[in-house]
Amino acid sequence: MKNSKKLIAILAVIAIIAGVFVACSAKTSTDENATQASGAESKETLVMATNAEFPPYEFHEGDAIVGIDAEIAQAIADKLGMELKIEDVAFDSIIPGVQAGKYDMGMAGMTVTDERLKSVNFSDSYAKGVQVVIVKEDSDIKSVDDVKGKKIGVQTSTTGDIYASDDYGEENVTKFDNGAVAVQALVSGKVDCVIIDNEPAKSYVEANKGLKILDTAYVEENYAICFNKNDTELQEKVNGALKELIADGTVEKIVSKYIKA
Ligand code: GLN
Repeated sequence: MKNSKKLIAILAVIAIIAGVFVACSAKTSTDENATQASGAESKETLVMATNAEFPPYEFHEGDAIVGIDAEIAQAIADKLGMELKIEDVAFDSIIPGVQAGKYDMGMAGMTVTDERLKSVNFSDSYAKGVQVVIVKEDSDIKSVDDVKGKKIGVQTSTTGDIYASDDYGEENVTKFDNGAVAVQALVSGKVDCVIIDNEPAKSYVEANKGLKILDTAYVEENYAICFNKNDTELQEKVNGALKELIADGTVEKIVSKYIKA
């Protein structure tokens, strides 16, 4: 009698624990699925689209996506009490995806341009970029002026692509899926130069022998986070967090971790 009472008590405790466990795991899985969770204690998810082929702003390290953008986004999410989820997609599907509401924001070393401002809103700028020209060390392209008439490699839909097509003619521009592939085309002689942002350019030149960056910078630009035009609420929240993170030195600390002066 005593023993069976004990058994019932033990079973009851197990049942309670199991119940709590099921409730908890059910909650986590809804959190993971919901991008618009509104529960008081459940963290809202912040879905960021990027193209993780753009070191040092975003790149793969094992299974993780790391880099300046990934860390700034994490700091923003922490400040807003949100859970950051990063989606790695093609660069040219970031803006359409943000417009369609598939992602809450796009952060990909993305330059603010008038054309893009027609489709999305941008946060305040958190970094500056410069379009540069990568050539082979023994190239006869000595300055930006020599690029005329040469075969130029770019990453599709980036500002490098847009400027190169405008300035040197679409027929001279070969578009690649990402910067790394464009640089491989330069190494193998399929193109004569690559126009791309300066920091990824430095990484690519470091990783491939026989390449250099022309001294003359090409175009200067501002990087910012893009949002759906209807989501000014998130845009304002992120701007608020970003301002604080810039003011307290967090952004600078993240940048200098990846970019050595
Ligand atoms: N800054 C460039 C742009 O916005 C390139 C960005 C990228 O390739 N991730 O087009």
